[in-house]
Amino acid sequence: MNWRQYARTPRVAERTARALRAGEKLSKDSAKTGRVLSPVRLTGRTLASSFWGKAWCANLEAYRDYEYRLPRGRSYVRSGAVLDLQIEPGRIAAVVAGSRAQPYDVEIKIKPLATAQWSRLKTQCAGEIGSLIELLEGRLSDRVMGIVTDPAQGLFPKPREIEMTCSCPDWATMCKHVAAVLYGVGARLDSEPELLFTLRNLEHGELIAAAVDLGAAPVKSQRKTIAAEDLSGVFGIELADAPRARPAREPRPAAEAKPPAKRRPAPPPTPRSGTVKRKVGAPRGKGNTKR
Ligand SMILES: [Zn+2]
Repeated sequence: MNWRQYARTPRVAERTARALRAGEKLSKDSAKTGRVLSPVRLTGRTLASSFWGKAWCANLEAYRDYEYRLPRGRSYVRSGAVLDLQIEPGRIAAVVAGSRAQPYDVEIKIKPLATAQWSRLKTQCAGEIGSLIELLEGRLSDRVMGIVTDPAQGLFPKPREIEMTCSCPDWATMCKHVAAVLYGVGARLDSEPELLFTLRNLEHGELIAAAVDLGAAPVKSQRKTIAAEDLSGVFGIELADAPRARPAREPRPAAEAKPPAKRRPAPPPTPRSGTVKRKVGAPRGKGNTKR
């Protein structure tokens, strides 16, 4: 064992023990009020193993704004520091154990996906996703993967769409607790991939519905997407190990759902109830293909 390992190991063990104690206390306190905790518990070294979980983490790591704090966040989430993680439309609320006895409250607000962007995604994916199960398990063609993970036009939030706060004294824009929570979201998407759509205020079934409405012919995309070989390298998805199926929520097969005669452009986007339409500025960084 070299000195670096020696220095690191006790710290990790100490942090894990501290997180465990804080988790037990929070659990007792929550039981009194009937609050249900949803901690992030990782099994093994892998933060996320599904397509959606890995894609979420890959998106975070693509932004230089975050690069400094992410390693600490990874280490924190691995030590079990994320004691509670709740994901709702446009908001992530979490409790994270830190160096003090009292854990920190983290809140991350994420702007909903712009309506026009969602409509474009639905049009681009039309006819290419067979079922909700395939969608949630990430069993997508390389082309669809490229569309949904596109840094400028895909489903994942960009730094300017993310607003984060933490009750710790760290003044950094992204403290290690926030970073841990963001990785925790990646881990959570392994078991509940639909939460990505919840977070962006989207109805994931609409991606399938769009396929049915528009008929079987895929809409040709003019947009540049990530090359297939790059994606398989990034995600390396094991299809056989995909998360559990949801037979109860699977739609009828497209073939018997509707005749594929209707071939018209996607209907104008309708604001969903409770959804506030927001204008989102042009994305920065490479890959900006916004017209
Ligand atoms: Zn913090």
